[in-house]
Amino acid sequence: MNNRPKELLKSVFGYDQFRPLQEEIITRTLEGKDSFVLMPTGGGKSMCFQIPALCFEGITIVVSPLISLMKDQVQALKSNGIKADFFNSSISPTEENEVIDRAKKGETQLLYLSPEKLISVSNSWLKELKIKLVALDEAHCVSMWGHDFRPEYTQLRVFRNSLPEVPFMALTATADKSARQDIEEQLGLKDSKLFISSFDRKNLSIEVRGQVPKKKKLQEISQFVERRRGESGIVYCLSRKNTEEVAAYLSEEGHSVEFYHAGMNPEERERIQTEFINDDTKIIVATIAFGMGIDKSNVRWVIHYNLPKNLEGYYQEIGRAGRDGLPSETILYYNMRDFVLYSQFADDGANSVMQKEKLNRMLQFAEAKSCRRKILLSYFGEHLVSNCGNCDVCQNPPKSFDGTILAQKALSGIARMGQKEGITLLINVLRGSNNADVHEKNYTQLKTYGVGKEVSFFDWRDYIIQLANQGLIEIMYSENSALKISPLGKKVLKGEKNIQLTYPVTAEEKKKKPKIVRIANEGEVNEELFKELKKVRYAISREENVPAYIVFNDKTLQEIARELPVTENEFLAISGVGLNKMQEYGEEFMEVVRRFKSIAKPRKIPTTLETFGLYKEGLSPEEIAEKRKLSSTTIYSHLSQLYSEGKEVDLMQYVDSNTVKKVKEAYEQLNKEGALKPIFEKLNENVSYGEIRISLAIIQRNE
Ligand code: ADP
Ligand code: ZN
Repeated sequence: MNNRPKELLKSVFGYDQFRPLQEEIITRTLEGKDSFVLMPTGGGKSMCFQIPALCFEGITIVVSPLISLMKDQVQALKSNGIKADFFNSSISPTEENEVIDRAKKGETQLLYLSPEKLISVSNSWLKELKIKLVALDEAHCVSMWGHDFRPEYTQLRVFRNSLPEVPFMALTATADKSARQDIEEQLGLKDSKLFISSFDRKNLSIEVRGQVPKKKKLQEISQFVERRRGESGIVYCLSRKNTEEVAAYLSEEGHSVEFYHAGMNPEERERIQTEFINDDTKIIVATIAFGMGIDKSNVRWVIHYNLPKNLEGYYQEIGRAGRDGLPSETILYYNMRDFVLYSQFADDGANSVMQKEKLNRMLQFAEAKSCRRKILLSYFGEHLVSNCGNCDVCQNPPKSFDGTILAQKALSGIARMGQKEGITLLINVLRGSNNADVHEKNYTQLKTYGVGKEVSFFDWRDYIIQLANQGLIEIMYSENSALKISPLGKKVLKGEKNIQLTYPVTAEEKKKKPKIVRIANEGEVNEELFKELKKVRYAISREENVPAYIVFNDKTLQEIARELPVTENEFLAISGVGLNKMQEYGEEFMEVVRRFKSIAKPRKIPTTLETFGLYKEGLSPEEIAEKRKLSSTTIYSHLSQLYSEGKEVDLMQYVDSNTVKKVKEAYEQLNKEGALKPIFEKLNENVSYGEIRISLAIIQRNE
């Protein structure tokens, strides 16, 4: 492979290394061949067509259905000095003409279009362009089997056929095997090579919390965000109503939060999205409609308030956290009610069998007692060798015990209450509680009343859910959630079969776990400085009207706060700093670092500056030498240096012009070496070292 892509990676984007597969994909594209790129959100798909776009002489067309994302992507490219434009329904006719004009003149390197626009212009001015590459982003939208089918995408095949010699690249973060084939066919890719990168996002911690009552759930979320003030996050809810409720709760608790759903008007949604992207709003509570169109790299956490419909959606949504690669947290809350509700939806909808199957897999994941990342990745066809260590199961491995007796107590309670009561009443009976309900129904007379006193309410709840998950009990949601005993449950009740249960994990135990697995060699990031840098970034982003992360992402700022660059070269060595950004923003950020350094380590003031101070007080070099207990030659040397640095020092008062002239001649005869001793000797030791030093400073400054 030639070096150009790697050079561009560094000089334009500021990165040292390609991520896995990027280089291969780029090489293949430069050879003019088609590719199919399957990478997780944040995996670095864009780079795969952006670098070839810079290598080719001509224009690269990028098709994406996500209109709001286009603007950000184009801004990000521009901030790196790349000539990019977008063409979609959001721009005015005047702007359209400008875009067309630039493209026709060959000034545009990358042009982003929505599929509708592409189709509508593919037979007009688009034909006049020198198209060298076509990238089809969100390629899954072409497949009816996917979850996000867009009819316009099916017309792209015609476009493909009109450019038989041009390499096409399909990119997506979500497509299982059957969808992949479908996509290739629909788009008319030729001998395309499939590139699948690892879907493992190690920086995301995974946690699942099951069966948490609503009130507690809200409290937990509030505490969670409280401990992460100033960080950005998203809460995903099932319903619009939920988003409003949760947002209201968090707002009352004093958090910077907005809700977002498809029922709001477009302007309102646009505003909320922009404020989130710009870090003006920290938390968004949204239905899944939010996030498709944003590319915010510093989302630090994602919470699912309800069970997602399938693992594809879940993984994509948690994937919106930590795109910058920094540790980020995800929590999934679920209860059986969500599951039942969705099952009913699925019954009514299209593809009912498949959707239900996906929902079942989602539930299995939520209830799993082994490494969650393993389960998740295996769903996407990837097999981890060892446990991840960064999920709740890995951090608190469940301990199991023979739960037959406990199960029998619960089952017999259910039987004796006529299989018509719910979980709360069952637990109250088992624990021998004095609850009114229990008395009213005369359950104090039951043999099982009080047989489970020793187990807490919450633990019982956990065990009963485990019994349901193991298929001993059925929860009849259609009958007020009455508990019924299954055939398997009967066997256990009769003592024909033993079962295992796991100890519930207490909230305290969960808290004990290390918050997050540290990744890579993160050194000390000075938080104060990081905050200062963020302020500068925010100011620049307002001034230039771009999202803050487009200036620099959090990862880059953290690296600055760790490495403390103060020269251009040091600054360029920071990951994410290309030449363009160095020129645009480098000085402003380095100034903050310099200030920080001078405050952080009040170094002794430099010796020359001490001399300068005394000089300004009017002392002669000899007086300064005496005061500082240094030789006068040294003081002359200081003054010369200060003079060379541009400080206001009048050197001419210490030498006469004749001396300077003599020194100059000697200096020139000695090939301008500038060493003092040869000059001293050449002038027959008639001129002092101090005078030579001063003369040289004058000569060199005037050179
Ligand atoms: P995707 O389109 O796959 O969701 P992006 O292309 O937006 O992901 O890339 C995610 C982030 O990773 C971006 O901030 C991008 O600049 C960064 N990135 C891409 N390639 C590299 C690389 N080789 N080294 C470092 N960062 C990279
Ligand atoms: Zn794990």
